[in-house]
Amino acid sequence: MKGKIKIHTELCKGCTYCVDTCPEGVIVIRKRFNKSGYFPAVVRHGEKCTGCAMCATVCPEIAIEVFRNNKKK
Ligand code: SF4
Ligand code: SF4
Repeated sequence: MKGKIKIHTELCKGCTYCVDTCPEGVIVIRKRFNKSGYFPAVVRHGEKCTGCAMCATVCPEIAIEVFRNNKKK
């Protein structure tokens, strides 16, 4: 199973829930802040993503989209 995520960095508030939740270590916090002044989550190891969608489930800002087999989940 292979997945892919898209993080909408301008919606992100940098809570790190997704970073802490991803079992594959795909997501990290960026050092440069976004327009709202938060340090957003970004994809670092996208090749490890399984498409489990746990990151999107915990995100309070609905900032993460998950794709699996090229379909939106
Ligand atoms: S879908 Fe799963 S494996 Fe992929 S980034 Fe989110 S939590 Fe990690
Ligand atoms: S859970 Fe959502 S708001 Fe929190 S750091 Fe991740 S993408 Fe940003």
